[in-house]
Amino acid sequence: SPPTIFVITPTYARLVQKAELTRLSQTFLHVPQLHWIVVEDSPHKTPLVTDLLMKSGLTYTHLHMPTAKDRKLQEGDPSWLKPRGVEQRNEGLRWLREDRRAQPGGDSQHGVVYFADDDNTYSLQIFEEMRSTQRVSVWPVGLVGGMKYERPVVEGGKVVRFHTGWRPSRPFPMDMAGFAVSLKLVLANPEACFDGDAPMGLLESSLLQGLVTIDELEPKADNCTKVLVWHTRTEKPKMKREEALQAQGLGSDPAVEV
Ligand code: UDP
Ligand code: MN
Repeated sequence: SPPTIFVITPTYARLVQKAELTRLSQTFLHVPQLHWIVVEDSPHKTPLVTDLLMKSGLTYTHLHMPTAKDRKLQEGDPSWLKPRGVEQRNEGLRWLREDRRAQPGGDSQHGVVYFADDDNTYSLQIFEEMRSTQRVSVWPVGLVGGMKYERPVVEGGKVVRFHTGWRPSRPFPMDMAGFAVSLKLVLANPEACFDGDAPMGLLESSLLQGLVTIDELEPKADNCTKVLVWHTRTEKPKMKREEALQAQGLGSDPAVEV
């Protein structure tokens, strides 16, 4: 059978969360053999995410792990100040390792791990590209890093450098959405995880450095010539009218889940 794709998604409560998770879940419904690991950045599992997952029709695992207070981005901080979703992705990895240990033998190590943020846009094709990952596979990411796209540059079937607008000397100058790791490799390196203290732009490197070298990377998406995932970001909805009405006691019904 084809390997299962374990998708680890950090998510946090905000006005657009249900919309993001609805779009994502309905993309994943079109992907065979996908197991969604949703990790809430919260001290508890919220009813909104619990209910959405239950009704999603997907195979999933629902986890939660709050970001430590001193690591959390504060309202008004620039988005690049602190890495986001770190403890949540690590919690997903922890669960995966423990769960696979509990199911030894057979096909239980046959899988691919992908880190999918809740606001990106994913072509169905990227999941079929990553399914054949042996160690770490890589591909372009659109609309990221102040560029139309970033990508590994492939020569003779090998990654030789990276097309990126910023610090190409980073060990793995790639976005989270631009790679997948085989489950076998994740299990064979039980200490490999994301380092929340990694300097800006080095979060992806902090995981990958413990797992592969550049010449081992497996280029996908036609030798990294096709963009099949986009680092889209959702605008924060304006609540000016809502607040004005609220002040008159005429705000939207809080019982209606948005
Ligand atoms: N995220 C989180 N807690 C936060 C902020 C973000 O769990 O306090 C999640 C978010 O839902 C997303 C991932 O971490 O899945 C990356 O965050 P974001 O999309 O804001 O990062 P950016 O697009 O700016 O890199
Ligand atoms: Mn994002």
